[in-house]
Amino acid sequence: MRLFDELAERGHQQVLFCSEPSVGLKAIIAIHDTTLGPALGGVRFWPYASEEEALIDVLRLSRGMTYKAAISGLNLGGGKAVILGDPLQIKTEALLRRFGQFVDSLGGRYITAEDMGVSVRDMEYVRMETRYVTGLPEEMGGSGDPSPVTAYGVYLGMKAAWKKLTGTDSLHGVKVLIQGLGKVGMALVERLAKEGALLYATDLSASQLEEASKTYGVQPVSPENWYNQPMDIFAPCARGGILNAETIPRLRCAVVAGSANNQLADEEADSRRLAERGILYAPDFLINAGGLINVYTELEGYSRKRALARTEYIYEATLQVFAAAEARGITPHEAAMRLAEERIRAISTLRTRSPLSVLPLPTS
Ligand code: NAD
Repeated sequence: MRLFDELAERGHQQVLFCSEPSVGLKAIIAIHDTTLGPALGGVRFWPYASEEEALIDVLRLSRGMTYKAAISGLNLGGGKAVILGDPLQIKTEALLRRFGQFVDSLGGRYITAEDMGVSVRDMEYVRMETRYVTGLPEEMGGSGDPSPVTAYGVYLGMKAAWKKLTGTDSLHGVKVLIQGLGKVGMALVERLAKEGALLYATDLSASQLEEASKTYGVQPVSPENWYNQPMDIFAPCARGGILNAETIPRLRCAVVAGSANNQLADEEADSRRLAERGILYAPDFLINAGGLINVYTELEGYSRKRALARTEYIYEATLQVFAAAEARGITPHEAAMRLAEERIRAISTLRTRSPLSVLPLPTS
């Protein structure tokens, strides 16, 4: 791989390779852009097949965080970290604390948080070595589980999409199929059920389906057959890459709006495929930003009320993205990307102080 070409092409500012053989730590921290503020993004602990795969993942994910923060109107840049290896085999207190020291060495340019393979308890070890950590448990003065806030944002983005399509944002009687009844999916179901939506759901876990069916009257659909289910709105809340050349032609819905990260397998081609089929797509990184808004609010001294109030911005922002897409003759995904880039450019011209000073970073 031509490393510097790769960084230049994706626009990264800094990549830190962290090695501590004595505790088995191999980690990469990628800072994509700090124009708007410190680079914030979780640390993923994963048994990557190769070092190159880990590097590509951290570069891709950190760039995604820049766009998510920018479109959400936050004073944050984009960053991410990966720890290479199987967490079940190599995760120890010493390794996590050494990782925390590397985070600390960046002096606040990167703020870490929990991601796949890392628990809240693990973050307590990281916190012992650095104050640049968010997403801590409520008992530690943190913001706790962000999923209900994420679900609220997805719900609002969904309503905005329905408004764009039909002129009303009431989801009463609207058929919604949720893929993935995890922390976000279930919280979304709760909101939609309250509004009187007709709910269908699919999950690999039979117990999750049963719970949703009993508690909220959701109709279960098998994970293999959900494509055949006619619906108004499809809400992917499980894994990324679910919108691709194979699935898009089979979708029987008018709107896609869900929480899963990186829903489009190929951002450009698949956002066009959706548009060609007349399916309105609410960009994932815009409507699932509630979790990021939640940890951002933690940096200022957490209040759930404030995090939810901030998340309400997603409704207007989604409508703005649809309007920009229409005006510019591009897809909503492209429009959201461009609006994010435009915000970064505009703010960069008026910066007179360090982006790191835009937030009251933790002091101890
Ligand atoms: P989770 O692990 O709690 O739930 C995921 C659910 O999806 C599980 O119930 C799992 O059984 C189900 N699932 C997995 N593969 C499936 C498949 N092929 N078909 C049907 N169901 C399947 O995760 P979560 O925290 O609810 O997050 C859901 C998605 O939203 C993820 O893509 C995550 O990255 C994204 N997201 C979450 C947050 C957050 O605040 N939790 C924030 C932003 C984005």
